[in-house]
Amino acid sequence: MTVQMQTVHNFYAGPATLPKPALERAQQELLNFAGTGMSVMELSHRSKPYMALQAEAETLVRDLLGVPSDYHVLFLQGGASLQFGMIPLNLLSHGRHAHYVLTGEWASKAYKEGLLFGDARTLASSEDTQFDHIPAIPPVDPAACYVHITSNNTIFGTQYAAFPDTNDVPLIADMSSDIMGRPIDVSRFGLIYAGAQKNLGPSGVTLVIVRDDLVQRGASGLSTMLSYRTHVKAESMFNTPPCFAIYMLRNVLDWLKSLGGLEAVETLNHRKSARLYGVIDALPHVYRGHARKDSRSHMNVTFRLINEALEARFIKEAEAAGLIGLAGHRSVGGCRASLYNALPYDSVEALCRFMERFAERNG
Ligand code: PMP
Repeated sequence: MTVQMQTVHNFYAGPATLPKPALERAQQELLNFAGTGMSVMELSHRSKPYMALQAEAETLVRDLLGVPSDYHVLFLQGGASLQFGMIPLNLLSHGRHAHYVLTGEWASKAYKEGLLFGDARTLASSEDTQFDHIPAIPPVDPAACYVHITSNNTIFGTQYAAFPDTNDVPLIADMSSDIMGRPIDVSRFGLIYAGAQKNLGPSGVTLVIVRDDLVQRGASGLSTMLSYRTHVKAESMFNTPPCFAIYMLRNVLDWLKSLGGLEAVETLNHRKSARLYGVIDALPHVYRGHARKDSRSHMNVTFRLINEALEARFIKEAEAAGLIGLAGHRSVGGCRASLYNALPYDSVEALCRFMERFAERNG
């Protein structure tokens, strides 16, 4: 049976659009992975073809991000949300404190987990202006265990243009919604983590990149699965890994490499966000951007229309035109267009044209 497929432009915030070549590769390889006559979902995770695949995924992460050799690359489960807890459990020592920068809902959730396990303190916050910017970061207490930031705020549409200098205090970043969207200097971080379901692949796998000295000095006596040491020692195979999610991550990263890597994708991402912010700025009688200009995200563009009734109509008409996933997060409302790596420029162009026509009709 063939089902007619409508052209859709997928602006969901995550799970989100995946590169078509990565999906087509999965389709081709589904019944016969690497000449095994089986799908990758059916292979033992200890089999040679699967082990080679996971090693390839790790190599792609290392090559694309330029991960230094004293860092471990881990593929874990439990989402970015489990990292909110694992970080303080492993790294927030008793009698010491950790700093958190509050830039949105996910940052606040990470902070709340920190409070459960130790002395977590707010270093800076933009909550009083509805998280519309990345706040200035005051000097960091050298006695702190770590500073936690959220590099891109998926719900509010803000992103760090530059990362804070924390001297010798390890900088920890939740990069769930902008990992691999631009080049970064990994050596400036103690730990980076990201749920895969935006820029890396489907949900089900969480990427963690952690410097060896942090792993070594991590707390002992934790539940085995919650200790970074366990996963480092077992090379992400302490228990059964999410094999299919890691397979898809491999396909996505291989596609990214073929595009020319992170510099190339950053250029494409800037072109996409510039086009959309340009429309928002040009039509202020209909659209209002949420984030301050100096904090605007290239990944999640958040905006409102002049009233909620118009907003509801905008989202409904957009959907009918094949522009899917434009409603803002359920906690804040408004509109949000997520422009992850895999979103083609043509989709942004289609959205911008729709917004221009909508403004003409409703302005
Ligand atoms: N951090 C950020 C920045 C996110 O956008 C999200 C989810 N969208 C999370 C954490 C939570 O991720 P997960 O669902 O993988 O736990």
